[in-house]
Amino acid sequence: MKAVVTGGAGFIGSHLCDHLIARGHEVVALDDMSTGSEANLEQLNGHPRFELVKGSVLDRALVDEVVAAHDTVFHMAAAVGVHTIVDKPLESLRTNLHGTENVVEAAVRHDARYLVASTSEIYGKNDADGLTEDADRILGSPLKSRWSYAAAKGLDELVAYVHGGDSGLPCVITRFFNIVGPRQSGRYGMVVPRFVDQALAGEPITVHGDGTQRRCFGSVFDVVPAMGRLLETPAAHNRAVNLGGLEEISIGDLAQRVVKLTGTTSGVVHVPYEEAYGEGYEDMRRRMPDTGLAADLIGYEPQWRLDDIITAIIEYKRAGTPPPRHALLAS
Ligand code: UDP
Repeated sequence: MKAVVTGGAGFIGSHLCDHLIARGHEVVALDDMSTGSEANLEQLNGHPRFELVKGSVLDRALVDEVVAAHDTVFHMAAAVGVHTIVDKPLESLRTNLHGTENVVEAAVRHDARYLVASTSEIYGKNDADGLTEDADRILGSPLKSRWSYAAAKGLDELVAYVHGGDSGLPCVITRFFNIVGPRQSGRYGMVVPRFVDQALAGEPITVHGDGTQRRCFGSVFDVVPAMGRLLETPAAHNRAVNLGGLEEISIGDLAQRVVKLTGTTSGVVHVPYEEAYGEGYEDMRRRMPDTGLAADLIGYEPQWRLDDIITAIIEYKRAGTPPPRHALLAS
């Protein structure tokens, strides 16, 4: 495989680069380094089959040039994290809409199969007991900044499907459900790295609202190998596929779990949503994936338990070193 990974210096993108290189593929990471970092790719520095190109997916000519020389595109670049979306709505919209258009159009022009990363955010406030891929989207008003992200990602999916259908090229859309792991930054909002940072610094752990909202966290080490496998599975082509974990937990309990696993003396404080994200923010009470389709298509079965996921993040943050490669090589 000669693969382009857009957003390759980001959290999931950099793990995907590791994974593809470990399997003998050639990889170019395209990243504008806005939320990605060189540290995430340190371990691939100087590798003969790896290259980092610094540039934006909004640069049409650059995207075209990079994609032209490759047969597979993993489009991971996006504006990520609730704080990014709320603080920079226009920039986020541009990156997510036009960036995806540029990447998919270039893939189609150059006959490259492609995968577009989408998100469980598109289901909005649907709190079903296991969201299947055809579940309804229950979105709040687009005037509320959070939902503009879901709107843009929904259109990204359409761009991917429609071009996939027209061109006949293999394409896959993956919907990630709260994927966490080493290298994820807490800076843009994500709750697990934030709680771990707070616990390790001995600072209060900030639970938003009453902490009864529930999520199901998935490991990056489970989802990364699934991406290439989906692209290689004809029955998965031109479909959206949920990828995530199995264990549901309330955010209040997550805070307690982080306290226990870090052994911190930090206390837990409750912060109102308006204080955390500003006026008019809406959260979803619950988000739980049904990953049955991925199981049917590729035998997807998450291996990482929540305690192990959190422990890997704690170890990474304590050591300040790249995550254990054995985790990737074993999968
Ligand atoms: N959250 C929290 N404290 C934080 C950051 C997030 O309680 O410091 C909450 C957030 O309000 C949400 C949940 O944790 O209810 C998951 O947030 P995240 O941004 O990680 O993912 P998403 O909201 O997209 O599921």
